[in-house]
Amino acid sequence: MFNFILFGPPGSGKGTQSIKIAEKYNLAHISTGDIFRKNIREKTELGIKVQSIIEKGELVPDELLIDILDDAMNKYKNVKGFVFDGFPRTTQQAKDLDALLNKKADKVSLVLALEVNDDEIIGRLLKRAELEGRKDDTKDVIENRINIYNNQTQPLIDFYKDKNKFASVNGIGSIDDIFNSICDAIDPFI
Ligand code: AMP
Repeated sequence: MFNFILFGPPGSGKGTQSIKIAEKYNLAHISTGDIFRKNIREKTELGIKVQSIIEKGELVPDELLIDILDDAMNKYKNVKGFVFDGFPRTTQQAKDLDALLNKKADKVSLVLALEVNDDEIIGRLLKRAELEGRKDDTKDVIENRINIYNNQTQPLIDFYKDKNKFASVNGIGSIDDIFNSICDAIDPFI
């Protein structure tokens, strides 16, 4: 199995690139943000629980994530692996993911970060707010999400660097150019 984590700040293009990667390498795409948004739309128990957290740009508590991820993975049979988009976001989640994969006699294959600076991200997210109307794309919430990323998610880079599973690519440029750089980073591992 090729278990790939696409890592990067909000607005770095993780969603767009994850879909392309999943298609090209025949992997299942799992976006925890998409799972939460679907639950909010459908007003499920989980959706009601997480709605206000997500609208404030905060992180859903770690203990809720791993079961959601396990369920999402179990829906796929006979895939060559997974693209995790937006997960893990904390060191605890990364440890929980290792434990879950370990139970399945599997492991994280590669973590790739999209590098995009804060100014570019804020501009992109404000534009996305106009186009998609996501409730967590307002200026205050965007700042909160970037701070949370820097404080809670960024430290994960060291977690994976220590395991020699980490690479990064420039996340600024055309979608196709960035995709090609991502493929160049993946190909030696797959
Ligand atoms: P995303 O679409 O990945 O930007 O996720 C949207 C929002 O969902 C985030 O701002 C968080 O509130 C929540 N979320 C998604 N994935 C996670 C995660 N792995 N841990 C905690 N919260 C998450």
